Parts: sequence; structure tokens; C-alpha cells
Amino acid sequence: MNHKVDLKNLTLPALEQFLRGQGKERFRALQVFKWIYQQDARTFEEMTNISKELRAELAETAYISNLEAEAVEVGGDGTRKYLFNLGDGHAVESVLIPIEGRNTVCISSQVGCAMACEFCLTGTFKLTRNLTTAEIVNQIMAVRHDVRESGEEIRNIVMMGMGEPLHNLDNVIPAIQIMIDGNGLQLSNRRVTVSTCGLVPEMERLGREIPNVNLAVSLNATTDELRNRIMPINRRYPIKALLQACREFPLPGRRKVTFEYVMIGGINDSLDDAKRLLRLISDIPNKVNLIPFNEHKGCGFKAPTQAAIDAFHTFLIDRHVTVITRDSRGGDISAACGQLKGKLEKGKSDLVTV
Ligand code: SAH
Repeated sequence: MNHKVDLKNLTLPALEQFLRGQGKERFRALQVFKWIYQQDARTFEEMTNISKELRAELAETAYISNLEAEAVEVGGDGTRKYLFNLGDGHAVESVLIPIEGRNTVCISSQVGCAMACEFCLTGTFKLTRNLTTAEIVNQIMAVRHDVRESGEEIRNIVMMGMGEPLHNLDNVIPAIQIMIDGNGLQLSNRRVTVSTCGLVPEMERLGREIPNVNLAVSLNATTDELRNRIMPINRRYPIKALLQACREFPLPGRRKVTFEYVMIGGINDSLDDAKRLLRLISDIPNKVNLIPFNEHKGCGFKAPTQAAIDAFHTFLIDRHVTVITRDSRGGDISAACGQLKGKLEKGKSDLVTV
């Protein structure tokens, strides 16, 4: 058992508290924090502006974790899927999506997921465990390491990988605080998006603790009847309560809630659905992400036809809704929405190492 503290689980104030407990000055925490997040330090030896004695002391009580990619798969569109071995037999996946030179990283928040959405591959694995704060920020840092080698930076983070981020808020909130800390990963809070299936009380908590983060809500159905069926969480927090939580979410200025809508052929892709969707969200500052269902083995659902996608999209555009239809990037490497599975088989993986 490792009883040392992984410093990547600590926000800057928590690191200050940890070092204060060891009788250290406050500015030491800032020094160490910058070494970790700005210089990518992985050992205390690298921290050359800190005395040898203090470095040795730190190494006694603490360590700095990082994630190594077990495998990386590169798609034809430049999308890269990473499989990270968590060291306990489990693994999670992250995806780098280069969109017009703006690198977006889609990260995971849990191993598996407890929400059991009927159409989602991760949901079929049930929840194995929450990721730690360190494991969440380390996904970004490992991808950043690669991206920086080609002289680029990461611009956006979307928590749309495996897991339900609001079901792991105790670790997700500190991770976001590290992401947006000007001394940490230095990402603008308008470039961090948390995607949820609709855990209403946790939406309130997120808004309270990190008021400026972007919110994406996976709506996916326009009636409680259908949503109850394909997203069991709806039985606890039905559409009306979910939309009320969206209205109350503290989005600053001219920002909008992103409504994700997975279009499933013959299930929720009709014009009547589009009409109901418009009615539901029209009094909330909104934009819509239409995600054509990605088929996966063992799931009876089908992708929508191109005609259904076009009709749905056009209906909303004509009524001045901002709509993006996802092009299922990374589809050729199973890195597309809802396709991540993070299975780590002993000694081998179904990914290609590059
Ligand atoms: N738990 C969070 C984030 C993870 S899922 C949430 O529910 O928002 C990220 C997005 O992928 C969600 O909008 C989800 O509805 C969608 N998704 C899941 N499985 C999918 C599939 N097979 N095809 C297309 N989108 C899918």
C-alpha cells in the first residue's frame, strides 16, 4: 500500500494546507503546483528552485502520479484515442479531437457507469469505480504532452468520455479547479464542458461550486415515457425537473446550455420529436448537438437515416436554433460518442500501439 499523498489529487488551496501541516511556508505550495502543472514535473528532483532538504522531505510523504498510454489509435480524421492503464487492472479512454486546429480532449470520469442508458456502450459495463482527481487531470496531461511535441496546445476539455461526471463530483470538482487555475493547467473556464445525463441536485452543486463552467445536458428524448425507457435516471429526475435545473444553472453572460440529442433511428428522430424538443428548450438559452447514434454490437438500436438527420437539423435551424450535427469523428477507431469501453485485457489490447 502506498501511504504517500498523490499531489495531483490536491487543488492549490489543498496543497497549501498539506504543506502547512508540514510546517512549510505558503509560497512553497505555489512553487510545487507550478512545477507539476506548468513544467510537467514528475519528480521532486526536477524542482530546482526548492532546496534539496525540502525536496527530500517531500519525497518522504508525497509523490506525483502520471498516466502512460497503454495504446494510442489514430483515426483517418486525426482523432487519437488513448487507452490509459490505471495500474489496478482497469483502464479508461480519452480522445483527442483536432477541430480546425483547436485541440479538444474528451476525458473520462469513471470506470464504467451506473446510469445504464440503454443506447450507451459504457452503460452496459456498470460502474466499477470513480476516477480520482489525479486520474482525471492526468488524462489531460498525458495528451497535452503529445500535443506539445508538435508545438500545439489543448484548447477545450469536454467531460463526455466514460462515466457520469456528476456522479463523481467529489473528484470532478477539484479536477476542474486544477484545470482552470491560472497556476495550474491554465484552461479558460469557458473551455471546460461538463456533460450530464441529468442528475438534478448535482447540477445545482456544480453550479454553486464552479459557476462558470459550460453545461451540456444529454436530453435524448422529448417525452418522459421514452426518456424513462432509454435513460433510467429520468424516473428520478423527469424532464420538467431537469429543464428547471438548466434554467437555474448560473451561466454567465451570453452563454448557452448545450442540449445533446442522440438520434436513434425510428425511436426519437421524427419531426414530431424535433417540434417537441424546440418547445421544451425554447425558454432556455440553448444550442443543440445532434449526435447520430453510433451502432455497437449487442445494442438493438439503429442509426438514423441521413434524411431523418437532415430534416431534424433543418427544422431547428429554420427556427433559429444553433444546431451542430456531430460528424461522429473517430468513427473508424471506435472513438466516437458512446463508443468508449476501456476494457483492458490481460497482456493485450484491441488497440494498435503507435
Ligand atoms: N454521462 C455523461 C457523459 C458521457 S456520454 C452524459 O450522459 O452526458 C456523452 C454523450 O454520448 C452523451 O450525450 C450520450 O447520450 C452520448 N452517447 C452515448 N452512447 C452513444 C451512442 N452509442 N451513439 C451516440 N451517442 C451516444
